[in-house]
Amino acid sequence: MFKKKRNGKQIKYILVIGDGMADYPVPELGNLTPLQAAHKPNMDSIAAKGRNGLLRTVPDGFTPGSDTAILSVLGYNPKRFCPARGPLEAAARGIQLNENDVAFRCNLITEKDGILVDYAAGHISSSEASQLIDALKATFGKHAGLEFFSGLDYRHFLILRSFLYSHLVECTPPHDAVGAEVETVLPRAKSKEAVEVVNLLRETIQQSKGVLESHPVNIARREAGKRLANMIWPWGGGTKPAMPSFKEKYGLNAAVISAVDLVKGIGTYAGMQIINVSGATGLADTDYEGKADAALKAFEDNDFVFVHVEAPDEAGHVRDYKLKVKTIEDLDKRLVGRILRGLKEPYAIAILPDHPTPIRIGTHTRDPVPFAIQSPCLEADGVQKFDEISARKGAFGLVEKESLMSLLLSSISSVC
Ligand SMILES: [Zn+2]
Repeated sequence: MFKKKRNGKQIKYILVIGDGMADYPVPELGNLTPLQAAHKPNMDSIAAKGRNGLLRTVPDGFTPGSDTAILSVLGYNPKRFCPARGPLEAAARGIQLNENDVAFRCNLITEKDGILVDYAAGHISSSEASQLIDALKATFGKHAGLEFFSGLDYRHFLILRSFLYSHLVECTPPHDAVGAEVETVLPRAKSKEAVEVVNLLRETIQQSKGVLESHPVNIARREAGKRLANMIWPWGGGTKPAMPSFKEKYGLNAAVISAVDLVKGIGTYAGMQIINVSGATGLADTDYEGKADAALKAFEDNDFVFVHVEAPDEAGHVRDYKLKVKTIEDLDKRLVGRILRGLKEPYAIAILPDHPTPIRIGTHTRDPVPFAIQSPCLEADGVQKFDEISARKGAFGLVEKESLMSLLLSSISSVC
């Protein structure tokens, strides 16, 4: 469908998402945004040679998160495919879900005197956590339809098999409930059919404390003065999204490169090849060159490669403007530049953040994000730099209805 050739060579499509890159002016940067302040010749060259605009990635009524925003960018309407963190991340861990199964992200948290103290249980290690999850499996394993799976660090999974009304359960993300009384933020039923499921979840949460607090892992943590991982916290529940694959939708073989389970999960449901890069961390120390080289290699078998870099979002969450500028500069020089230099085929490239994570706020916002598309068939629109302010003058204007994918793919016309 969108397989196109130019001078006998197959066109390659590249999508680069710098998670949370967009921002507001930062006083310490002379009222520039981190994107404006960063030295990023490669992204600026894409903006200058291509076409620019602002893209709404989070529809009204949706929380601004990478799940919703990235589905939108890829052309999967979030209103139809109802993103939820549980099933997306579970897919990245290879957990199989049937039609009526609901997957919850299940954090190990720290509870003290009835208060939710830490959503990450003192950033417990994976090896300690897996022993705790094993203890939960041993205790609750006999309960029909309720299964625990280990993940990374504090991030685990609780799957409810064939509980028809699990989607009517409202859970509070634990990072939004730090300091709250546990009783006030427990799962709630959105309708009376879900009361039974909610009671099961509440009982499991309360009983988990008995299993976890006396476990040798937590006894050792207490002695070492570390925070206990003494309670589970299920949230982000949902059924698996019934998405058409990327190949069905666009006729393209696609691959995704990301350190983040959520993004790998979207790729899994979209039928993309998931490429793991050993040095990819999701933080500022990620292996940018390793990801660039993996992308170039992925083009041997794929028409479309999606590279996701989490680091700018993390810098936004910790409100570190210097770090955010550095992550953008590293992404530009060590990843984007390296891919563009290494590509042998003609290409069309799109670069954008999924959502802003402004330094001033420390969390995601729903503002439209700047984007740039460079393609052999697109004429430049006069914008010189890639940033929030320059993009306002771009030829695409404010894009609210179309997806980035449709703009990227239609940027290659058969006549050019
Ligand atoms: Zn984030």
